[in-house]
Amino acid sequence: MRSRLSRDIRRQVLRDFGGVCAVCASPIVEVHHIKPKAEGGSDELGNLLALCARCHDVVTYTPNVFNVQAQLTLRNRAKRVLTSLDMVFKLLSSNEVNLAIREYYNSKLQEDLVTCGWYRRGVEILSQLLRQDNLGSGDLCRLTVSLAEMNFWEGKHRQAYGLLNKAGELLSEQDRHVRAQYHSIRGRVLNYLADDELLVDVGQKVDQREALEEYEKSSDYAQGEDEIATLHSNKSSALMSLGAVSDALEEAERGVVAAGNNPHGRETNLDRCASILRAEGDYDNALVAVEQSLLLSIDTAYLRGISYRMRSIGQSMLFLGEYRDAVFALNCSRLIGDMFGDPNTEWIASLELTLRQTIGEARYERIRWEIAQDFRKFLGSLGVNGRIA
Ligand SMILES: [Zn+2]
Repeated sequence: MRSRLSRDIRRQVLRDFGGVCAVCASPIVEVHHIKPKAEGGSDELGNLLALCARCHDVVTYTPNVFNVQAQLTLRNRAKRVLTSLDMVFKLLSSNEVNLAIREYYNSKLQEDLVTCGWYRRGVEILSQLLRQDNLGSGDLCRLTVSLAEMNFWEGKHRQAYGLLNKAGELLSEQDRHVRAQYHSIRGRVLNYLADDELLVDVGQKVDQREALEEYEKSSDYAQGEDEIATLHSNKSSALMSLGAVSDALEEAERGVVAAGNNPHGRETNLDRCASILRAEGDYDNALVAVEQSLLLSIDTAYLRGISYRMRSIGQSMLFLGEYRDAVFALNCSRLIGDMFGDPNTEWIASLELTLRQTIGEARYERIRWEIAQDFRKFLGSLGVNGRIA
C-alpha cells in the first residue's frame, strides 16, 4: 500500500534526494516509507526515501534483502553522496579546482559511488575534474586511476587499461595509496584482458601471470585492513586462474582473517572461498561461504555485492539440483543487478541458459510462471540465513 503524503513533505523529500532515486539515481521518483505506515511508520523525513517506480517495487517486495537497517544505510549514503557531488560541482563552477578535488577524496566519494553502483556519475564527475587546466601531476595521476577504476566496475576493461597506461607514467613513489590502488586495479584489468583479441592484434597480449605480478607490486604499498584484504582476494583469484587451487584457497582464507571487521574485505574473500569450493565440487560449503558474504552485503546495502552473491547462490543451487531455488536466486540477482545497470548480465544469462537446458524449457517456464504469479511471496521468501525457502 502506498499512502498519501502531503505535497509539502513530498517536495521536501524530492529536494532532499536531489530529485533522483536513492538506489539507481534515475530521475523519476516516488516517496517510500522505510517503516511502512501500516506498521506504525511515520511521515517524518528520516523514514522517507525517494525511489523510482522499479526500485520502489524491488525494495518493497524484498524485505529480507532491503530490511529496515539496509534501507536506512542506503538513505544515509545516498544523501551523503548527493551532498558531496553537489559540493564538488559548486566548487568547480566557482573555479575552486583544488578544493573540488580535495572534496572528492576527503568525502570518500569514490568509495561511495562504487558502493552505490553509480559508476556513470563517477565517470561524469571525474571526467569533468580531469578537464580542468593546470592540474598537478599528482592530481592528474590520482584522478586518472580513479576514472580507470570506475571504468573497470562499469565493465569497460579496455578503457580502464588505456587510462592505467597513462596514469602509470605519472606514478610517484610517495603516494602509497594511489600506487596500491593503481596496481590492484591494473591486476584486475589484466586478469580480464588476458588473451583479449584486441590487445593481441596490437601486439600487447597480456596473460594471467602479469596480473599476479601487479598484485605482488601492490603488496609493497597496501596499507590498512581494506587494502590488504583486497590484495589477498586478488591474489587468490590470479592463483586460481593459474590453476594453483590450494594456494588460492589458502590466500582467500588469509584474506578473511586480514579483513578483521572490514565488511568489503571479508565479503570479497568469502566470495573467493566460495568460488574455489564450487570449482572443487563442494557446493554445500560454497553456499555457507557465500551466504555469509551476502549477509554482509545486505548490512551495507551494497547492491553489486547482493546481485553478485545471489548469482553465486543460483550457481551452487543449480549444481546441487535445487532448481527452483536456482531460478529464484538468479531472478533476484537480475532484478537487483538491473537497479544499478550491472555490466555482468551476460553471466546471469548464461547461467539461466544452462538451467533451461538442464531442466528443460517447459519446467523452467513453469517455475518462472509460478514466481510471476506471486512476486511478493517470491521475493519475500528469499531467506538468506540458510537456504532460500
Ligand atoms: Zn531506481
